[in-house]
Amino acid sequence: FFRPDFTARSASVRVRFGAGIRRTVAEEMDTLGVQRALILTTPQQAGMADEFEGYCGSRAVGRFTGAAMHTPVDVSEQATDLVRALQADVVISVGGGSTTGLGKAIALRTDLPQIVVPTTYAGSEATGILGQTEKGVKTTLTSPKVQPEVILYDAELVATLPLPMTVTSALNAMAHAAEGLYARDRSPISSLMAVEGLRAFRDSLPKIMAKPDDLTARGESLYGAWLCGTVLGQVGMALHHKLCHTLGGSFDLPHAETHAIILPHAIGFNAAAVPDLLAPLADLFGAAPGAGLWRFAQQNGAPMALRDLGLSESDLDRAADLASANPYWNPRPVTREAVRHLLQAAWAGDRPN
Ligand code: NAD
Repeated sequence: FFRPDFTARSASVRVRFGAGIRRTVAEEMDTLGVQRALILTTPQQAGMADEFEGYCGSRAVGRFTGAAMHTPVDVSEQATDLVRALQADVVISVGGGSTTGLGKAIALRTDLPQIVVPTTYAGSEATGILGQTEKGVKTTLTSPKVQPEVILYDAELVATLPLPMTVTSALNAMAHAAEGLYARDRSPISSLMAVEGLRAFRDSLPKIMAKPDDLTARGESLYGAWLCGTVLGQVGMALHHKLCHTLGGSFDLPHAETHAIILPHAIGFNAAAVPDLLAPLADLFGAAPGAGLWRFAQQNGAPMALRDLGLSESDLDRAADLASANPYWNPRPVTREAVRHLLQAAWAGDRPN
């Protein structure tokens, strides 16, 4: 991994792992020196707010259970109004990337500290990146203000993640690490984290699929999520993330499922240009990294074809236009024709090289 010139960044974050670690949330409030918590969840996970109010006692001053996919700005403003009305001095985000996104949007507007308790592997808790949507347009910003201060990774919370979400969320996380391996601004440390994050998922996911409540394997998968998310926060992404952003933003395809399907194809495409940088993937998943990831996804029951997500074949031309319209850096030059070809294979569920 060594390269003679590099710049490394790391955020100051307190990260704790352990089955049941969520019950220490009030101690974390003490460490931060805060007294008044607003608890955030999605409507589907509102039950978690009851549980966390129990851990915080009178220091839970309220809850907002309206977190939504893609962090809509109107929802963030509503939650920020509540923060101000309640004079909250910390947000506790309990959930996946959507809930974490809401906590970050509040932090951007108020500078409040965040305690994040992830229940998926998306990895947003480990980055200073915030994606927000307004009037159907998604924009992304990076700021130290939105980087969460404390993360509590509790294996018990992902132990109940349904298996279809488990595998797609894991592949979503692995995509951050896979693209991190060839990032232009990678450092030896980001590459080490990427390889270890991928290894953690390679080893833990099959065990989880066999025994979903295996807390040791679930804990290892969260360790993978932390590493992969940290890589995402430190280095730039390329073709894979661009394609998923286009498919999610313009065709409303679900986030984690889209990542799961595109990953082997994007990596197979780029492996032809940077085989050396992707050699760790080949070591972990088999000689051809795209085909190896495809087989790993299939063995673990992931969705394999964009057509199964409801994308029609007639949308592929427009998707290729959009994904190749604005030039962006990628280790292999991206042409419209190549993107169209890749999307066709991902749509049909074909095995990449
Ligand atoms: P999500 O947070 O949207 O969750 C999907 C659904 O699953 C929600 O209804 C949620 O309540 C439910 N859920 C979550 N955990 C559960 C559990 N353990 N058991 C049962 N149900 C559960 O999905 P996600 O994939 O975690 O996050 C996707 C979002 O995060 C996207 O908007 C993406 O852009 C964003 N994201 C941002 C970053 C970043 O760095 N800014 C990184 C990764 C993802």
